[in-house]
Amino acid sequence: MTEKIHIAGLSRAELEELAAGFGEPKYRATQVFKAVHERRLRSFDEITDLPKKFRARLEESAIISRLNVESKYVSTDGTRRYLMKTTDGNPVETVFIPSEGRDTICFSSQSGCPLKCDFCLTAKLGLLRNLTVGEIVEQIIIVLNDVYGVGVETPHGTNLVGMGAGEPFLNFENLISALRIMADEDGLFIVPNRVTVSTAGIVPRIYDLANIEDRPHMAISLSSASDELRDRLMPINKRWNLGELMSAAKEFEASLRRGERFTFEYVMLGGVNDSDRDANDLAGLLERYQLRRVKVNLIPHNGAEQLDYSTSSEERVARFKAVLESRGVSAYVRSPRGRDIYAACGQLAAKDSPSLVQIVA
Ligand code: SF4
Repeated sequence: MTEKIHIAGLSRAELEELAAGFGEPKYRATQVFKAVHERRLRSFDEITDLPKKFRARLEESAIISRLNVESKYVSTDGTRRYLMKTTDGNPVETVFIPSEGRDTICFSSQSGCPLKCDFCLTAKLGLLRNLTVGEIVEQIIIVLNDVYGVGVETPHGTNLVGMGAGEPFLNFENLISALRIMADEDGLFIVPNRVTVSTAGIVPRIYDLANIEDRPHMAISLSSASDELRDRLMPINKRWNLGELMSAAKEFEASLRRGERFTFEYVMLGGVNDSDRDANDLAGLLERYQLRRVKVNLIPHNGAEQLDYSTSSEERVARFKAVLESRGVSAYVRSPRGRDIYAACGQLAAKDSPSLVQIVA
């Protein structure tokens, strides 16, 4: 039996091809696209503006949903964490982070992750598999429906970040295809300018991204300005070291649009990479490569009991930031959200959350 087509992963052109195969005109493809992405309907039966015969044929050959929400947790700060499963049983995690006029959905690009960042819980899962285009898109559909209700327009200002489980640049083509589908104004209408994807340093794809016109913003997870320490914290550094990573970053900087910057993320690990010297090394690295249109996001590590790291103190984070700023580097501290439900950065590991409100069993 051939596998059914996951309709959320089809571009408009692909949908037109599908409709044409059933002898249906082009505008039927637009109806289906709008029903799935703009109205976010969850069954073919609900698309009542389609002829019954077409709906029946869609039902036979395609599927609207390939993700099931197994659990949902809500943090005291309003962050929602969704534990989903693909129809073939692989975990997918998605997080909704509310913020006045600027809600953010953090999606996953892989089930698990093959990179072995030492400070990350997801790394413990290993790679289960890449997510399909439809599975990336459907995470957003599920969250929007849960938060705002089915059919309610995506609120303007909704941001996406590709910082959930997985290394997005190891699933590059599916990622870019999914973002194009989500940018369509007849669908979710979340344009690339509202999307940021984060890489641990897959250097060839940084060059590729620089050449994509409708690309999202990029963040590079750095976490150390020394090859020796970065080899340990983020072993991908052994494949592409800091010199190679910074050269790619320099080329990416040259491709930035007017007023755009890109981000270096720096997970702060108490007593490991958070000294004044580490801050000066980081500023020196950016100076050496003359990287000016960048900002640094400092992310206090989200301590989890399975990891041998602790969080840098607030004073240390503030001091690290001050050192960077004294060297002319824009630095920000990302306040942790959803720590109590294991939804914060580096905590996604298909884990049940203790002491919190579980909404869906
Ligand atoms: S930090 Fe990101 S890239 Fe590194 S292991 Fe975790 S999920 Fe993978």
